[in-house]
Amino acid sequence: TEEQIAAGNRAYELDREHVFHSWSAQDQISPMTVLDAEGSWIWDGEGNKILDLASQLIFTNLGHKHPKVIEAIKEQAEKLCTVAPQHANDARSEAARLIVERLAGDINHVFFTNGGADANEHAVRMARLHTGRHKVLSAYRAYHGGTHLAINLTGDPRRFASDKASDGVVHFMPAYTYRSYFGAEDDKQEAERAFNHLRDVVMLEGADQVAAIVLEAIPGTAGIYLPPPGYLESVQQLCDEHGIVLIFDEVMAGFGRAGKWFAHQHFNVEPDIVTFAKGVNSGYVPMGGVAMDDAIYATFAERVYPGGLTYSGHPLAAAAAVAAINAMDDEGVIDHAQRLGAEVIGPRLEELKDRHPSVGDVRGVGAFWAIELVQDRETREPIAPYGQTAPVMNEIMAECRRRGALPFMNMNRLHICPPLNISEEDVLFGLDVVDEALRLADDVVER
Ligand code: PLP
Repeated sequence: TEEQIAAGNRAYELDREHVFHSWSAQDQISPMTVLDAEGSWIWDGEGNKILDLASQLIFTNLGHKHPKVIEAIKEQAEKLCTVAPQHANDARSEAARLIVERLAGDINHVFFTNGGADANEHAVRMARLHTGRHKVLSAYRAYHGGTHLAINLTGDPRRFASDKASDGVVHFMPAYTYRSYFGAEDDKQEAERAFNHLRDVVMLEGADQVAAIVLEAIPGTAGIYLPPPGYLESVQQLCDEHGIVLIFDEVMAGFGRAGKWFAHQHFNVEPDIVTFAKGVNSGYVPMGGVAMDDAIYATFAERVYPGGLTYSGHPLAAAAAVAAINAMDDEGVIDHAQRLGAEVIGPRLEELKDRHPSVGDVRGVGAFWAIELVQDRETREPIAPYGQTAPVMNEIMAECRRRGALPFMNMNRLHICPPLNISEEDVLFGLDVVDEALRLADDVVER
């Protein structure tokens, strides 16, 4: 309606006057106005209906306006809207129980945070105190959050502004078969060689100096590149051998995104710590957390844990988590995502790859997919240089929006990460849009 459009215009003007945006040159952006959304669809400021293939920032795993989650938030708001972290609260206790129930048997406690970055901060703090060591190893081509330590753990250029070697963070090359740093030609070689590299880094840094290895079970923002079979298993053995805490960052990949409750459950591994956020309650209320095994817990059984947050385990967020987790169970959402990935998204993306010379690689699982665009399929030279974008990437996004579907974009990649409960019909519509828009990339490649 005209009224909504006027409200949208006002929101936009005030945004430009007063809101400072993440990761942006403030005067070079033109944010899309969103005042309403439902399920997998959002409405922009001009009243256009757009399919959200990015689940916002890969967090609305149940889409918008899930009735059970909204009802739970309303009920909790009326019952007890907030409470200090030192109290026991029914919503928080039940959320913790439901989360650990979905992890390995020896993971029994959760420290709740406000989001993913602070979950990783606390996970590392726990690992350092648990081991009495300081160094932390994380992978290049990874993302772990925007706070001081988390951005240092992050293996992308966004960390440069905050780089501090004194934090004890050491980066290693990830296992990434398509862009192997080790000349590997297949997953088997990559798993072996990437692991040998990591083992050497641990040796060179001093195995007894390393508190933790932090890894996204499936790296998300950096490209949804699945670890080759055997790699994570070897990493766990290495950690066990040297008393290094293995931390899996499941902030993006967890809570069904990869077609299982947690992405690492695709592999035969048991981390010591799992961090989460986003999908835990579809981001309806901010929440993250650190789920720890009994050994980490024991370190703080008789010793004070030096950390806390005013809103740790906020009842509104916790009630939303309880409802979201139960809804995912009751509605078979994760199996649906797994099936969509295997039977609909994956095959359709393979088809796109066959037809578009600009598509170098497609990969993913569940509702977690990447399309990697290249100048040249042989050399695999990315269509946008590492750490940057390219005009054609922005043109593709604009074309997608014009046609009514928005994927996530990062450097030379488009990510297809719709809500897990999206219908087959909707996701196929979205992939048709992407298919059309990819012609712009083909034009650049063929020129
Ligand atoms: N870790 C991973 C793997 C993420 O994808 C993100 C966010 O995208 C974070 C951590 C940071 O989470 P937050 O933005 O909630 O602090």
